[in-house]
Amino acid sequence: MALIVQKYGGTSMGSPERIENVAKKVGSFHDQGHQMVVAVSAMSGETDRLIKLAKTIQERPDPRELDVIISTGEQVTIALLAMALQKLGYKAKSYTGAQVQIRTDDAFTKARIKEIDDARIRKDLADGYIIVVAGFQGMDEAGNITTLGRGGSDTTGVALAAALKADECQIYTDVDGVYTTDPRVVPEARRLNSVTFEEMLELASLGAKVLQIRSVEFAGKYNVPLRVLSTFVDGPGTLITSEESKMEQVIISGIAFNRDEAKLTIVGVPDQPGVAARILSPIGRANIEVDMIIQNVGADGLTDFTFTVHRNDYDKAYDILDKTSKELGARAVSGDKKIVKVSLVGVGMRSHAGVASTMFETLAKEGINIKMISTSEIKISVVVDEKYLELAVRSLHAAFKLEQAPV
Ligand code: ASP
Ligand code: MG
Repeated sequence: MALIVQKYGGTSMGSPERIENVAKKVGSFHDQGHQMVVAVSAMSGETDRLIKLAKTIQERPDPRELDVIISTGEQVTIALLAMALQKLGYKAKSYTGAQVQIRTDDAFTKARIKEIDDARIRKDLADGYIIVVAGFQGMDEAGNITTLGRGGSDTTGVALAAALKADECQIYTDVDGVYTTDPRVVPEARRLNSVTFEEMLELASLGAKVLQIRSVEFAGKYNVPLRVLSTFVDGPGTLITSEESKMEQVIISGIAFNRDEAKLTIVGVPDQPGVAARILSPIGRANIEVDMIIQNVGADGLTDFTFTVHRNDYDKAYDILDKTSKELGARAVSGDKKIVKVSLVGVGMRSHAGVASTMFETLAKEGINIKMISTSEIKISVVVDEKYLELAVRSLHAAFKLEQAPV
């Protein structure tokens, strides 16, 4: 007998029929003798609808009140799922985040979970109940309702699994796992049997939007084995786990890409201490996140400095840089919005040389010019022209034979 926490997303909870389908699935696990705790999202589209509704009254809704509204979506689905379970003959009970209690800080709309009181759930489990908990929400110290940021039900599931020391946390969604890359770009993309927490963080933050990033951080921190599975098709899904227990020993796990980047260059700035700070501090003060940074080797006491930002921040960043350029007496400012970032991710890079050279040779053979490069222990990213995105991802996927299951 295991204690299993399952999380079902908005699509899985999208209609009464689908909720009854989820109840059957949860029930079958209970039938096998497992203790079941289920975290659920609101019906798909509901949270968006509630945000819009709030905005009809207040253009910029008061965050405390917004959380009161948007947490209601999950209050509906927990009760419906508990009823569906009861209809099938199971003992089931629903709880809101505040009832559990899931205690958070008071950062409305993006609160962080601090602790979970597991006493109530443990007692109910011992009494044979299936427990259904509202995802995405908690309560601060003063008793205010808080929410955990969009997609936050994943984090609720993981946090419950950590608090209850569950044997596994299963995230049921509308895809059947994590893929080597986006199958819409590479039809040969393969479902991964396992990835590490670290790899998943890179894959998630680079655009493979399967899990809320925070939930992966949380799972890694508390070493909660996570499995991503489809609600609609049976299969083993993808296990997200620590490096030691990862099943597949491959060099590259996946290729992530990001279409939201833009790059900015300031040309001919004095090559002196403090210049990088003078260029980037005003950008940071404007709350613009900088991703990749390159500074050229200086010549004649001058150097060029290039960095990337989110495309939405491009115009704002350009104006700031233009001002800095005048202050520093730089030669020029230039920028490019039509770029993308492509990244190879894999913990195997730590122990294998030659990944970068294979990557660069592959891109060269396709005539793709690399504009920027950055690396970390488990990742190599390049910036290329937007028009080469598909070609770059496809040729790299083939070069590293990612379509083949590891032996
Ligand atoms: N219902 C929330 C959202 O749409 C939380 C979730 O689905 O995880 O963001
Ligand atoms: Mg979701």
